[in-house]
Amino acid sequence: MCMIGDDDCGWTNLGQTIRCARKRHRCYECSRTIEPGERYEDARGVGDGRVTVMRSCAHCIAARSWLDAVCRGYLWGGVWDDLQQHWDEEWSLRTLDLGRVMVWHRRRWIDPATGDLVDPRLIKEITRRAAQVASAVVAEAERKTREYWAAERAARTARYEQTFGAA
Ligand SMILES: [Zn+2]
Ligand SMILES: [Zn+2]
Repeated sequence: MCMIGDDDCGWTNLGQTIRCARKRHRCYECSRTIEPGERYEDARGVGDGRVTVMRSCAHCIAARSWLDAVCRGYLWGGVWDDLQQHWDEEWSLRTLDLGRVMVWHRRRWIDPATGDLVDPRLIKEITRRAAQVASAVVAEAERKTREYWAAERAARTARYEQTFGAA
């Protein structure tokens, strides 16, 4: 099940900006350290009378675009739970590319060959391909559901007309 659509009342979005880190921050999604010089997103909101600052690393911003495409949104702090749920429960959305994004996340975006952070543009590209496939699968499932209900309505109307005559 997707987390989008869960209750988020009492929350006001105060806006998002892309910044360049001047000191270390912790990514709100993957918990890794965002080092000075890295670009990150600063998102703020008010809930329960408190301002929450959520900083997302470039890799998590890239990865969550899958949720934007497939779920039409994401929850701050819930990106990896949501992606993991889709991965665990929806076999039709599992692609090699989505799997690669999950593995990179588990490696905390470190390339084992070099020990450096993987280029976020690579994550963006892999995620874009994974989202493309998943969006097509979701669109097809939605089309089938619409077709099913249209046929169901038509059958019900036909049964009604048989019993009571056409209106
Ligand atoms: Zn979702
Ligand atoms: Zn992150």
